[in-house]
Amino acid sequence: MRYIADFHLHSKYSRATSREMDLRHLNQWAKLKGIDILGTGDFTHPLWFKELEEKLTPLGNGLYQLKDISKKSSIYFILTTEISCIYKKSGKTRRIHLLVFAPNLEVVRKLNQRLEKNYNLHSDGRPILGIDAKELLKIILDVSPENFVVPAHAWTPWYAIFGSKSGFDSLEECFGEMALEIYALETGLSSDPPMNWRWSYLDKYTLISNSDAHSPENLGREANVFEFSDKEISYQKIIESIKTRKNFVFTIEFFPEEGKYYLDGHRDCQISLLPKETKKLKGICPVCGRPLTIGVLHRIDDLADREAPRQGGAPGFKSIIPLKEIIAQTYGVKKTAKKVKEKYLELIKKTEKGEFSALLDLEEKELLKIASPRIVQGIIKARKGEIAKSAGYDGVYGEIKILFEESKRVFQEKIF
Ligand SMILES: [Zn+2]
Ligand SMILES: [Zn+2]
Repeated sequence: MRYIADFHLHSKYSRATSREMDLRHLNQWAKLKGIDILGTGDFTHPLWFKELEEKLTPLGNGLYQLKDISKKSSIYFILTTEISCIYKKSGKTRRIHLLVFAPNLEVVRKLNQRLEKNYNLHSDGRPILGIDAKELLKIILDVSPENFVVPAHAWTPWYAIFGSKSGFDSLEECFGEMALEIYALETGLSSDPPMNWRWSYLDKYTLISNSDAHSPENLGREANVFEFSDKEISYQKIIESIKTRKNFVFTIEFFPEEGKYYLDGHRDCQISLLPKETKKLKGICPVCGRPLTIGVLHRIDDLADREAPRQGGAPGFKSIIPLKEIIAQTYGVKKTAKKVKEKYLELIKKTEKGEFSALLDLEEKELLKIASPRIVQGIIKARKGEIAKSAGYDGVYGEIKILFEESKRVFQEKIF
């Protein structure tokens, strides 16, 4: 059976998150989206941990379900958190985010107790610890060798292992001999697998993709797709699959241009630049004269050793545009419009497995039975990549426009 998994998200106890990031809503929205396995996020937070203990029931295989509802109406939860490390190394301030997986609540309790001795876990669902990422990795694996760590959104400028502002140029530089314990990297919204396949050093790492959602409707905007039999599914199987790529079929991806850090630029100066333009300007903003925020494309360009991507044995990927965005563009209104929400719910309630059925699975003629021809046209065009992109930079999201017949004409007229 196919399992769609999103491991990285934040609860209502993290900063700048929706109040609806609680277990009941997470379950409800995961069902609407077609997500089978969802990370809990934030397991280091004492209040969230308490909720997890009270409201989840263990299945004995490292996965959990909601208590008090039928087994069929609950998705699987897997215990995850994100920890932010801030520290100095080799004369530079480093800010590294790590995604942590744990095999059960008892292990989480131990890990939390261990960290609480020296650090504050209360103030944020994603705690900020003044600890070297390598030392944290040691502690996590010392508490249980079944714990698993993945550097989060590996390329974002400010908070990532390869980030241009406060990251490193290799995993060894960050983790030393502990780098052997790292098997996977989260690509983040601003990079997709082909960008990462340009750097041969990364060939041995599995690339995973998660939503990093702060509100329920962003769940699954990136995700991982596995193939397991119902009987074999477990925490251990999932981790093994991430390590070995066995049973790991593909990842679901944002178009990287839509991510907030794709190009270089300055948000306040409203300027975005391609890597080669930034290099010509020696990294200095032509508007304000300060150093530009170097985006993901530029960083990968600097570290890559291949002109073109080479996939090797890595899982494939599929790029999607979220259904709400497709519907909004269909009607030429904002994603937040009431009509969009109504149409969205109306449509996905008619599908077997929620939004992902519509985006990935259903053929055109099946889609036409449940959606208007124009929405179907939008879905099909998104699948085929018949889109125009304006890229994100320095914290500004990019935009992806579906080329409906008339906009295609306008677009082509503009270009030629
Ligand atoms: Zn993060
Ligand atoms: Zn500037």
